[in-house]
Amino acid sequence: MLSKVSLIVIALTLIAHPDVSSAQTAAANDFEVITLGTGFPAPTMKRFGPATLVKAGKEILLFDAGRGASQRIWQTGTPMGSINGLFLTHLHSDHIVGIPDVWLTGWLPSPFGRRSTPMRVWGPKGTKAMMAGLEKAYDWDVETRIADQKLAREGAAISATEIEEGVIYNQNGVKVTAFEVDHGELIKPCFGFRVDYDGRSVVLSGDTKFSENLIKHATGTDLLIHQAAMAKDELLEKSVPVRYIIAHHTKPEEVGTVFARTKPKMAALYHIVLLTDGKIPAPTEADVEERAKKNYQGPMVIAEDLMRFSIKKDGVTYMKP
Ligand SMILES: [Zn+2]
Ligand SMILES: [Zn+2]
Repeated sequence: MLSKVSLIVIALTLIAHPDVSSAQTAAANDFEVITLGTGFPAPTMKRFGPATLVKAGKEILLFDAGRGASQRIWQTGTPMGSINGLFLTHLHSDHIVGIPDVWLTGWLPSPFGRRSTPMRVWGPKGTKAMMAGLEKAYDWDVETRIADQKLAREGAAISATEIEEGVIYNQNGVKVTAFEVDHGELIKPCFGFRVDYDGRSVVLSGDTKFSENLIKHATGTDLLIHQAAMAKDELLEKSVPVRYIIAHHTKPEEVGTVFARTKPKMAALYHIVLLTDGKIPAPTEADVEERAKKNYQGPMVIAEDLMRFSIKKDGVTYMKP
């Protein structure tokens, strides 16, 4: 008869097995991209604001921090304090409203926080002033928690760097290159990012119109995650503001052309702007996909919040949440 101790050992072994296999998977899965938030300014529960987590080797990098970024990071089981850097494509509110939460909640002495060093942020001109403004806005909280909870001041600091096109980060074999995209005359500079690791790469478009510079930097990448915007033709004819918004983004047919020219191993759509005036309904994501397919017949997926892409040597796979 088995003793209680052996039963416990068997039970522990059974529990341990999934851990062993997930550790093995993690070893093979050394370059992962999680689309935390894939939405646009519409405050829906289905799609939170733009935010993408890239885990490459030892590095954990966050690209944009839109609405709900901290909840989505929590859902991935990643402590916010373990994020090595935050990279901002531009300072439109839908891409940055989640920053104070990631910053300050990431500082708290809890399993989801524990950052003891300054939060490092890279972004376009204006980033330093915005971060200084955030420090001012949350000064009461920071000073009170330092006095009351004895939290380390270091962890509540922000270290901001304003970037130009080029390599902006290079740590542990992970290289981040910023490249300019075109989000309109008054929104300059506005960046897309390319992350290279161990001969593999992912490119994030940020917000942009059709951009030749993006095509230049994304050609041959493993995974290209690109935004799109669409309104029904009758709404485009009727509404000046809608035409204005569409003119700042990439149309689905154009996204198809971008994918056809860059030939990624996997193409994904995120930050899909679907416009309505309340009378003429918004197009669907299927409409966007159908139009993109007019110019591109390769592998393509509409990204969802918490979708996980694995960039492996032999190709890109993805898992729905
Ligand atoms: Zn924008
Ligand atoms: Zn946006």
